[in-house]
Amino acid sequence: MSSTWEIVIGMEVHVQPRTRSKMFCGCAIGELGDPPNTHVCEVCLGLPGVLPVPNKAAVEACLKTALALGCEIPRHTKFDRKNYMYPDLPKGYQISQYDLPMSVNGHLEVGGHKVRIRRVHLEEDTGKLVHAGDKLHKAWESYVDLNRAGVPLMEIVTEPDIRSADQARDYAMELRTLLRTIGASEADMEKGQLRAEPNVSIRRQGSEELGVKTELKNINSFRALHRAILFEVDRHRQVLESGGTVVQETRGWSEAEQRTFSQRSKELAEDYRYFPEPDIPPLELDPPWIERLREALPEMPAPRRERLVRAHGLPASDVAVIGADRELADLFEGAVATGAAAKQVANWIVGEVAPTGKLPSAANLGELVKLVTDGSITRDQGREVLAESVETGRTPAEIVAEHGFQQVSDESELRVLAQAVIDANPKAAADFRGGKKQAMQALMAELRKRAPQANPRAANEVLIRLLS
Ligand SMILES: [Zn+2]
Repeated sequence: MSSTWEIVIGMEVHVQPRTRSKMFCGCAIGELGDPPNTHVCEVCLGLPGVLPVPNKAAVEACLKTALALGCEIPRHTKFDRKNYMYPDLPKGYQISQYDLPMSVNGHLEVGGHKVRIRRVHLEEDTGKLVHAGDKLHKAWESYVDLNRAGVPLMEIVTEPDIRSADQARDYAMELRTLLRTIGASEADMEKGQLRAEPNVSIRRQGSEELGVKTELKNINSFRALHRAILFEVDRHRQVLESGGTVVQETRGWSEAEQRTFSQRSKELAEDYRYFPEPDIPPLELDPPWIERLREALPEMPAPRRERLVRAHGLPASDVAVIGADRELADLFEGAVATGAAAKQVANWIVGEVAPTGKLPSAANLGELVKLVTDGSITRDQGREVLAESVETGRTPAEIVAEHGFQQVSDESELRVLAQAVIDANPKAAADFRGGKKQAMQALMAELRKRAPQANPRAANEVLIRLLS
């Protein structure tokens, strides 16, 4: 289909900044699963006569994100009321930012493709409805939980620069890495801290005009994002190729059915009657403060990945894993700094550390890698030592000593063992003597079967010596 249709995607991503309290009051953010309505006060319940006060930590997280995305930060910014009625929004409006957002005109590079960022602004989350009862008997009950009401959200909006489902997923992943790197958000999708809303349209290849778009709401995993876009693109194509027209609307994603479904048509929903929030004075963003935030930003993920490739010659597949997480990248560089071999450290991080998400200290990982690399312990033993080191924080050397993992490296002991292996495998021994180097594998396999505790490198050397 790519020969006739071009996919056009813009993304809105809602991110919960890392703050202790809500956007405009002192209520704690709380955890998923806290009892309903336990983190609420007059302000976030929207009672009359209260005064919202912006959360400085949320403003700072938003500005750091904007700076990391290369956005311009205007001198003046303000909050606005976005008016609509919904039971999870008792105030009847959401405080957001309309025509003077906290930042504009940035970009994020994803796999060599530049995605322009239109704006990054701050707003507040709404509450949540919980429905109970059974459909069959029409016994419906709905409850409102306002723990989420007033939780800060950054909204990061792109221009329609994304051209495929893969690119949309990669954009969201790169954004998550960036947010975690700068400490602006934990961006945990499972906890709803990062929600993606792609708007999707297609147009004839070569056409400049944008097609009618549909907006997919509240997608909370990278996999769902990818699938929902693929489904939606295919749906648009079928509608258009059968002579129909795409309806501009908001759609949801059903994980169970693996399809999108219509939620509401867009035409009437857009009239929010924005006006400036009268209870919050416009913010004056102090340029020296902005400069201090800019200077305090850490190295960004993309240049860091390039540096890891350049400095350590790591393959792209390793860097994709290690460079996707600042903690992993710090662990890698820390372990290499102890003198452990870079490629070996990378193998351990990609193969053992990243899948469990349990990080050892850099010093302990470096020590472990050196013990395995010099043949003091086997790789399997290394895995056990790593797990125990993560669990207890003890050093690999201590753990190895305690378990008696030290391998047999004693020359005379190994020579007896190697000779026995050679005697039992005359053909492999003759092959090796005759120049067939692969025959060593069979001999080594036999040796390790007889003596798993043998240091492989030392045993290999003894075998070669006896056969030459
Ligand atoms: Zn509150």
